[in-house]
Amino acid sequence: MIIEKTCKVNKVILLNKRPHGKPLLTDFLITTEEVPSAKDNEILLRTEYVSVDPYLRGRMNDAKSYVPPFELNKPLKSGIIAQVIESKNADFKKGDFVSGNLAWKEYQTSDGKSLQKVAAGVAKLSSYLGILGMTGLTAYLGLTEIGKPEKGETIVVSGAGGAVGTVVGQIGKLLGCTVVGITGSDEKVALLKSKFNFDEAINYKTPGDLKAAVKKACPQGVDVYFDNVGGEISDAVLANINKYARLPVCGAISLYNQTDVQLGPRLQPIILTKSATMRGFIIGDLVEKFPPATKQLTYWLAENKIAFTETIVEGFDNLPQAFLDLFEGKNQGKMIVKI
Ligand code: NDP
Repeated sequence: MIIEKTCKVNKVILLNKRPHGKPLLTDFLITTEEVPSAKDNEILLRTEYVSVDPYLRGRMNDAKSYVPPFELNKPLKSGIIAQVIESKNADFKKGDFVSGNLAWKEYQTSDGKSLQKVAAGVAKLSSYLGILGMTGLTAYLGLTEIGKPEKGETIVVSGAGGAVGTVVGQIGKLLGCTVVGITGSDEKVALLKSKFNFDEAINYKTPGDLKAAVKKACPQGVDVYFDNVGGEISDAVLANINKYARLPVCGAISLYNQTDVQLGPRLQPIILTKSATMRGFIIGDLVEKFPPATKQLTYWLAENKIAFTETIVEGFDNLPQAFLDLFEGKNQGKMIVKI
């Protein structure tokens, strides 16, 4: 990573290069600018917590997608919790906390239009980036709206030790299902069973036949496969699906850094013969369902029916490394950078 030294005080992280394959620290540039001042109708924000998310990798490519790509030499952006430190906008007062899709800057101004206020003291501020934010909503709505699990069914979730996966598994248990997680370490396997109530968990990095491991963990077959990773892990699960299985395709992290098109098993015969439904979704398209979903997640959290964990990395300069670490599985639950 390149750090440009100037005497200004507001640190900013820019996209320096478009990654080829796995992103590198040199794809980011930490630079500085003057701390801006709030103009009329604006607020000045100080960044408190930054969410790093796998989907940001897609935005680093110069490719058309459901959101425009990041521009070279411009700041990256993601979910941020910030505090209002100066307000010239009647809707916000100094000290308020807000959440929004903001730039990777220590300080920035905003007209407040796309920000939501978050209540400090009700839940941990960082939880509005995870369990009560985008990843919690993704878990809840992806599972209930697309997975549609019925009591007694078997759910498999990949990427199970992460922000979305840990929540999917627990909701599956609250809905009366058997839940099996697939994750990348024995430590995460143990955590899923001890803290997050999963019935079974599989370490996909353990050498052996993953298809057979899924079969053993799911003696009744798989009714819902919540797919966070794609690739060979998903091939192994698909080989075990039941008739009328539902397959919410939430993410494909195992493929985000691939530079060529992967060839796997052809899926049509299994989807056809099992009358299965495979459906991708982008959480932003379900925005009208956010209020009841947030209410439900808040209730479960308050009643201690759902737990969450976060990996908190300290320091603005460590944002790029925290993002890279997602691809190494270094996080348990939501990866967040505290500024
Ligand atoms: P996580 O917290 O799960 O972090 C990513 C995890 O992915 C890592 O901890 C790692 O865990 C795992 N991983 C990394 N590389 C690989 C690989 N090659 N093969 C298998 N697993 C890998 O992230 P999120 O919970 O935020 O996101 C989970 C998925 O959901 C992502 O694919 C993301 O893009 C997607 N997503 C989609 C949304 C939508 O609207 N559809 C919204 C939010 C997220 P491990 O130790 O298990 O390898």
